[in-house]
Amino acid sequence: MLINDPPVAITENLLMLGTTPYQVYLFKGEHEAVVFDGGIGPVGPLVSEQLETLGIDRRLVKQVVITHAHPDHVMAVPGFREMFPEVTVAASEPAAATLSNEKPIGFFTKVDAALTAALTKAGTITEEYHPKPLDQMAIPVDRNIKQGDQIAVDGVSFDVLETPGHSDCSLRFFEPTGKILIIADATGYYVPDQHYWWPNYFTGYGAYLGSIERLAALDAEVLCLCHNAVITGAEEITSYFDDAIAATKACHEQILADRESGKSVREIAERIGTEVYEKTPLMPVEFFQKNSGLLVKQSLRFAGVDEG
Ligand SMILES: [Zn+2]
Repeated sequence: MLINDPPVAITENLLMLGTTPYQVYLFKGEHEAVVFDGGIGPVGPLVSEQLETLGIDRRLVKQVVITHAHPDHVMAVPGFREMFPEVTVAASEPAAATLSNEKPIGFFTKVDAALTAALTKAGTITEEYHPKPLDQMAIPVDRNIKQGDQIAVDGVSFDVLETPGHSDCSLRFFEPTGKILIIADATGYYVPDQHYWWPNYFTGYGAYLGSIERLAALDAEVLCLCHNAVITGAEEITSYFDDAIAATKACHEQILADRESGKSVREIAERIGTEVYEKTPLMPVEFFQKNSGLLVKQSLRFAGVDEG
């Protein structure tokens, strides 16, 4: 089953909060709770209101866990820190390094403003959810986590998994008892109503495919993406992963075929970016084209083909 309308309870302990297409997850026990992912800025005020409406005491939230240091996955963290005064913010060491640096945070702030404006224009959010400006050009992290660590919540533990390929700082989280797997962007940007993926192997094609294959092998029963969808049911999740892998390979093969036929890196990136924009016009076409340039470079690097 596909679930994409936060706020909504996925299981007894797991809630999807935020807004489509920027979701975060609250996992709660009796005495404490954890929020996975840091969303975009407006997700802070939205989550605050959603917890209030759901009657969930915000003092339960003791941990915020960052999936990776991309602008659409961290900008609500300063708001979370204000809302949850006792919170420990956890991230991988490379993510923490990025988030302590004012240059990327300056860039993230600009992307967040653009995303906030786009969502407002689309009518997804209103101005009352616009985040406050950051009071420092950093998003401090309290705990560095890595492969083999655990996120413990009232006797339940999520295993921390390192999954490079989308970014070198990417972490995923698996709770083996409930078979809950939180993968954020490990399979790219999925558009459910078109069953379309924009593969996002921004830092390595081989590593990205390897990460998806390892995640698929966990046989999850609840799969949480941080854009557009939760998928439940072992069979549906298996076919989701199969199709995501097929879409990734098809993107890679088309890039190599385009290059073979003489197209430049830029032309190929423009073709992919235009296609993504036609599926999901949330950001300007140039945004998708620029980021698709990274896919072209990674595919050519993987295949040992000259960028020309
Ligand atoms: Zn990302």
